[in-house]
Amino acid sequence: MILALMIHDRGVVEETAWQALTMARRLADDLGVPLHALWVGDGIDPSSVGAHGVDTVHVASGDGFDDYSPQAWARAVAGLLAAHEPAAVVAIGSDRGNEVMAHVGAITGLPMVANVREVEPGATWKLLRTRWGGSLLEETDLDAATKLLTVAEHAVAVELAAQASTPQVVPFEVDLDEGDLITKVIDRVVTSDGITLATAPVVVSGGRGVGSPEGFAPLEELAALLGGVVGCSRVVTNNGWRPHSDQVGQTGTVVAPDLYIACGISGAIQHWVGMMASKTIIAVNTDSEASMVTKADYAVLGDLSEIVPAIIDEVKRRRSA
Ligand SMILES: Cc1cc2nc3c(=O)[nH]c(=O)nc-3n(C[C@H](O)[C@H](O)[C@H](O)COP(=O)(O)OP(=O)(O)OC[C@H]3O[C@@H](n4cnc5c(N)ncnc54)[C@H](O)[C@@H]3O)c2cc1C
Repeated sequence: MILALMIHDRGVVEETAWQALTMARRLADDLGVPLHALWVGDGIDPSSVGAHGVDTVHVASGDGFDDYSPQAWARAVAGLLAAHEPAAVVAIGSDRGNEVMAHVGAITGLPMVANVREVEPGATWKLLRTRWGGSLLEETDLDAATKLLTVAEHAVAVELAAQASTPQVVPFEVDLDEGDLITKVIDRVVTSDGITLATAPVVVSGGRGVGSPEGFAPLEELAALLGGVVGCSRVVTNNGWRPHSDQVGQTGTVVAPDLYIACGISGAIQHWVGMMASKTIIAVNTDSEASMVTKADYAVLGDLSEIVPAIIDEVKRRRSA
């Protein structure tokens, strides 16, 4: 069987986790084996995975599964793996997906391949995966009793199964040690009204060119007008102008909004890989040679402290017209 680990946050499936489930189903179809899913904790809606053709959902429960805890989740995966010996365990290559699967690799001693884009099963599996924050494609051979894979976010388009299933739900208990819960969620701070950086349809992002924490006020206003959120580059978080939760890029959040407006961001590769999947990219920059400007769909050359308020005025004018 192929086992898909569903990454969720207290019952809300990570948007990109459906991409990993799509790849898992294709693998199961290719190999002619059943597709199982693993859900850790509460909140499973079996019909949601049934739409993807999942035959069986294993639901892990036990003290410590009330919120995210990477090693505890990995114990649940390792337990199932020992009992069922799947051909592969597939999770999304999000922060949490990669973190849990790395723990699974450490617990089981099996090799784990992160950020896979394509899989060709065979005697030895041939994988294509992204490395170095997406700037390098690597062909990898993988040979292991059970393959541990994470799927690069946005590498696979979500596709429902031709035939939906009614999955069998199989609960199982996992005994955890205190040490398994050494890393766990202990607090949550809500920063925006339900829209997160990872899922917002519009991201108005600022870099060093914004100049100060106060300089983000017009970006906040534009983001609110467009139903989006503010993002930023690492220089901004390093300077303490914005929290790390706003950072886009290799060491921040990977985003793929409909519209990404990069204000005063040069477009360094570590930033680019975090937003290159955006459908439309607009650069606002004083430098016509900046990488963000040359790669964007549209560029506005000039000082962002003049251009962003001008865009705000124009949006308001058109809305009131
Ligand atoms: C291992 C590693 C991981 C990293 N991870 C990340 C990451 O996740 N995310 C990330 O963003 N970076 C990351 N970086 C840092 C990255 O390499 C760059 O240093 C960073 O992205 C640059 O930020 P910036 O574009 O804001 O600043 P700069 O590169 O300094 O660019 C500022 C831009 O603003 C423009 N500008 C200046 N003033 C104005 C103005 N008034 N109006 C309009 N434009 C103006 C300039 O022309 C310039 O293009 C990482 C680096 C490393 C080594």
